[in-house]
Amino acid sequence: MKNYRGVKQIIKGMPASDGDGVQLTRIIGTPYLDQLDPFLLLDAFGSDKPQDYIGGFPAHPHRGFETVTYMLDGKMRHKDSAGNDGVIEAGGVQWMTAGSGIIHSEMPEQEDGLLSGFQLWVNLPASHKMATPKYQEFSKEQIPTEIRDEYCSVTVIAGETSLSTKGVIVNEFVKPIYWDINLKKGGRLIDTIPSEHNAFIYVYEGSVSVEKNNDEKQNLQDSNLEEIRKGDLAILENGEKIRVIANSDSRFLLIAGRPLNEPIERAGPFVMNTKQEIQQAFNDYRLGRLVG
Ligand code: MN
Repeated sequence: MKNYRGVKQIIKGMPASDGDGVQLTRIIGTPYLDQLDPFLLLDAFGSDKPQDYIGGFPAHPHRGFETVTYMLDGKMRHKDSAGNDGVIEAGGVQWMTAGSGIIHSEMPEQEDGLLSGFQLWVNLPASHKMATPKYQEFSKEQIPTEIRDEYCSVTVIAGETSLSTKGVIVNEFVKPIYWDINLKKGGRLIDTIPSEHNAFIYVYEGSVSVEKNNDEKQNLQDSNLEEIRKGDLAILENGEKIRVIANSDSRFLLIAGRPLNEPIERAGPFVMNTKQEIQQAFNDYRLGRLVG
């Protein structure tokens, strides 16, 4: 019975600059990987050089999807057109539903030291692209981390593990999984992912291998292992389960979501279903009507 997900494709990120000169690696939202339904963009940022991040992301609009910021190191202050204001600290997540429209800024709350983390864009279904904007925001202390054994811990931002640890984020449209996994050399993670979900792994420290063999035997053979190195995104094949082993002390994101299977029109900070809706978003922004 085929049920373990192997690696379908390995994608390398590309250097990019966004906001006011912030240096980052774009992994989804490039010519190599335009999108992985329902995920529209994945950026990794990480530098201890202030010139790489100090400009931040000054005021800019969004409409039609969700932006998810997960900080590993440093602090980022966000402010929006509705008067919301807060700081995302290391280990914290902000899951922002832009919906009908928001204008916000995301600026480093520090002048030196390490700033690192990820931004993921999650699409909204046509029925909810114009929903009222909202935030789901959690600090490191509020997000559960499941300690499986001396080799493996799983921080569960969204989704539910096979050991019944529930993530803090609610999203009934794509039922996302967003796990940050710490796997020490020789450790193994086995879990389930809903079979209809698109799923990927992004390794940001070390190296792991996905075990694509479909039987339940415990002894892994080299021929059945597909390596994913630091900086690589692996799109996973269809299946219900995943088995990952660490080749060295590793950290990686496991992210999955139910595809929306809807037409996508995107332009800069707007992601809608039709060209007309994109034009409307630009018009609304120009006329100061994007918000609300
Ligand atoms: Mn933004």
